[in-house]
Amino acid sequence: MIEEKGILFILSGPSGVGKGTVRKALFDKDIGLKYSISMTTRPIRTGEREGTDYFYRSKSEFEDMIQNNKLLEYAEYVGNYYGTPRDYVEQTLESGNDVFLEIEVQGALQVKKNFPEGVFIFLFPPSLEELKNRIVSRGTETEDLVKNRLMAAREEIEMMDAYDYVVVNDKIETAVHKVQSIVRSEHCKRERVAKQYKKILEDDLA
Ligand code: 5GP
Repeated sequence: MIEEKGILFILSGPSGVGKGTVRKALFDKDIGLKYSISMTTRPIRTGEREGTDYFYRSKSEFEDMIQNNKLLEYAEYVGNYYGTPRDYVEQTLESGNDVFLEIEVQGALQVKKNFPEGVFIFLFPPSLEELKNRIVSRGTETEDLVKNRLMAAREEIEMMDAYDYVVVNDKIETAVHKVQSIVRSEHCKRERVAKQYKKILEDDLA
């Protein structure tokens, strides 16, 4: 059964919870999702690549995108802008493909306003202690930035109520498996497929 439009999946949760790792492991499985590459003003990190990890842009280029309504959502996070280019998401969904966003919580709440039918998944840390260890061990942040990220994380966890699903990231494999199950289940949701079933019935009776 082919659904007409793709489904928008949003994986979100505090920084350091492992969203990036879960997303990469999920995409290694190639389950037919299209990843929306974000735009950011933060400096590129060692090992990252333009157009694969992010589109790295200057502050003024980013602000032009905002002005021209080219971003589906954006957030200023720990001193830098992050945002989702609108065209890619809308065109991909329209062509019947699922789109997957991996974004922080403020942005996810904005997406919810425009796409209430999206599927919102909150990745939850096993504990705040563990979250701190993960941010520190990444080694890319100064002490002040670690503090800021942890403060942001506490506030973000309070936003969990706006989400459809909560997945605890204690083991990557288990978390990926759960996200994969959510994707499959959403394709079986009656409200999504009812129209197609009805069409089949009508065609049969015609
Ligand atoms: P990082 O700098 O560690 O790559 O990302 C910092 C935070 O920004 C992470 O929580 C990441 O999920 C989030 N992020 C990445 N892309 C986007 C985006 O397009 N929009 C929003 N709102 N957040 C994003």
